[in-house]
Amino acid sequence: MGNEQLLTVSDKQLIDRKVIQCIELANQFFGKNFSMPTVKLNQRGRAAGTAYLQRNEIRLNLYMYQQNPKKFIDTVIPHEVAHLLVFHLYGSKVRPHGREWQNIMSNLYDLTPDRTHDFTPKPPSQLFEYQCSCQKHTLSIRRHNKVKQGAQYFCRNCKAILELMNPC
Ligand SMILES: [Zn+2]
Ligand SMILES: [Zn+2]
Repeated sequence: MGNEQLLTVSDKQLIDRKVIQCIELANQFFGKNFSMPTVKLNQRGRAAGTAYLQRNEIRLNLYMYQQNPKKFIDTVIPHEVAHLLVFHLYGSKVRPHGREWQNIMSNLYDLTPDRTHDFTPKPPSQLFEYQCSCQKHTLSIRRHNKVKQGAQYFCRNCKAILELMNPC
């Protein structure tokens, strides 16, 4: 896949440090010992980040990070970490940006619980990210439009239906 954007070592350190800080705050606040998530910088498209709950992983959009690193670190990382915390605390039946998530954003991280962000997405590559149960799939705009018209594509590996990844 290859990340075409460059990331300096200190950028990665800043990102990692913020993730650690968000988890440590949560540990103190909830009296728990949340495990450190995996952080990847391969988020594409319109989403600033995505939280993979089962894998305890967050993916961040490097293209958007570079537009305003400080703001990205201050808002997007807590946003995504909060999704993981909600999952660990309440399971997967609560709404992604529901009351539990909003409470963590405002009470723990002292942030406005915004679902959206105002970073600019990379110009469309005409590719869309889908997921099954085991991996990420990239669909062309032609296939993506077919899905919108009701077509279904399946993963050859896990046989699950491909679903468009949720941007947030
Ligand atoms: Zn699969
Ligand atoms: Zn979100």
